[in-house]
Amino acid sequence: GPAEPPRRIKALDQDVVNKIAAGEIIVAPVHALKELIENAVDAGSTSLEILVKDGGLKLLQITDNGHGINREDLPILCERFTTSKLKAFEDLTSIGTYGFRGEALASISHIAHLTVTTKTKESSCAWRAHYASGKLSPAKPGQSADPKPCAGRQGTQITVEDLFYNVPTRRRAFRSASEEYAKILDLVGRYAVHSAGVAFSCKKQGESSASVSVPSNSSTVDRIRIIHGGAVANELIRFEAANERWGFNSEGWISNANYNVKRTVLLLFINHRSVESSSIRKAIEHTYATFLPKGGHPFVYLSLEIDPARVDVNVHPTKREVNFLNEDEIIEVICDEIRASLGKVDTSRTFMTQS
Ligand code: ADP
Ligand code: MG
Repeated sequence: GPAEPPRRIKALDQDVVNKIAAGEIIVAPVHALKELIENAVDAGSTSLEILVKDGGLKLLQITDNGHGINREDLPILCERFTTSKLKAFEDLTSIGTYGFRGEALASISHIAHLTVTTKTKESSCAWRAHYASGKLSPAKPGQSADPKPCAGRQGTQITVEDLFYNVPTRRRAFRSASEEYAKILDLVGRYAVHSAGVAFSCKKQGESSASVSVPSNSSTVDRIRIIHGGAVANELIRFEAANERWGFNSEGWISNANYNVKRTVLLLFINHRSVESSSIRKAIEHTYATFLPKGGHPFVYLSLEIDPARVDVNVHPTKREVNFLNEDEIIEVICDEIRASLGKVDTSRTFMTQS
């Protein structure tokens, strides 16, 4: 009541703070997976194998063949803000790799059981380490927490088990494992289309065949064919646009006027991170509207490279939408090019039928 004295202010336990922070970065299994895929690609991998159980809530495992992690770095691997990718704040403006916050593995270790098995080229064996709340932890109570030598190939395997086991409210928020798995497949499909030279596979544990499987040597169009089907893969136009003044270049594959679907499929990458942009989506839909029948929508795979100094690099981790300078001008250049490409295909067809 009004007569009560104010409650005293107390600091939250560090453990609670860490769990809250982790829950802001990783809201669903797919968010953990995105960080793990980006780490594997950063490590120069040409093969990523993903294994999932219960929509990623029970198990999320990603095995890569990248450069691995040094044994000496394992004790601090999952501490917050430990990274091999960023040294000074100024680096934020020139960062070329996906990761930069050094927070992903730390966050995962606070809300799941995390195991890392890794081998560098120089090491004679692989090392396995378990983590809890940012620190090395024993596999079983009473054992040593030190990494253990084991057999293994070059690369890294990250195993995330029982995600949100200690965040019951979050755990209960999941309606169905298949819904989470659908989000995982959507994400894997995006990176599989975009990552030339990298093989991807994604499988549910216990099933004999993979849901997605893309060989490393497949072309971008073949990647689109494997993931989105032949109907769209046969109706694609190569897309390229660049502009020095606005500091960007872009490329991709976009469906022509013969193809349309009920909802726009937009695979958008900015500086090689999968992102959402409602302004780009709207502008593309508006551009296609004059070429497609009413209610028809395109397929667009668009990879944009923007001078990193001009991009607001996703500083807040939950922000899946990105912002960049001269957004309107860049979108206009892209849409002008789309319009020109769609127009060209039309005239060549008319020309062919007339001759
Ligand atoms: P960030 O990617 O922002 O640096 P992370 O927490 O995602 O932060 O990863 C911390 C560090 O762990 C990375 O900087 C990298 O050195 C190492 N690392 C993580 N995953 C891998 C991997 N799959 N292969 C090699 N090194 C990795
Ligand atoms: Mg990372």
